[in-house]
Amino acid sequence: MPFVIASPCIDVKDKACLKVCPVDCIYEGGRTLYIHPTECIDCGLCETVCPADAIHADDALPEAEKPFLAVNAEFFGAEVTNWGSPGGADTKHTTERDHPLVAAWPRR
Ligand code: SF4
Ligand code: SF4
Repeated sequence: MPFVIASPCIDVKDKACLKVCPVDCIYEGGRTLYIHPTECIDCGLCETVCPADAIHADDALPEAEKPFLAVNAEFFGAEVTNWGSPGGADTKHTTERDHPLVAAWPRR
């Protein structure tokens, strides 16, 4: 049951979640952040600090945000970064790229 970053983070990206994640499984893209689905240990800390209410457990995503389950997972796949499972965010695993659904999201 990984946690998922949904659309309210797009163009907000204040990184509050990134600072509290104990396993550094939150990665930075161009317009939003992404949680690695298998590196996340489901502690829930990130959800408590998000000012935009963008983070939810995968089984508690609002209906309209359900596509973001795949968005977070696919960010690490061949179509976007091809990072697989880097084992923790660092400067080599930070990018201006985004999942296509995020890249096409209307600017705030
Ligand atoms: S639930 Fe915990 S481990 Fe998962 S992304 Fe949030 S802070 Fe990191
Ligand atoms: S705390 Fe929320 S708004 Fe801030 S970067 Fe993380 S998911 Fe985005």
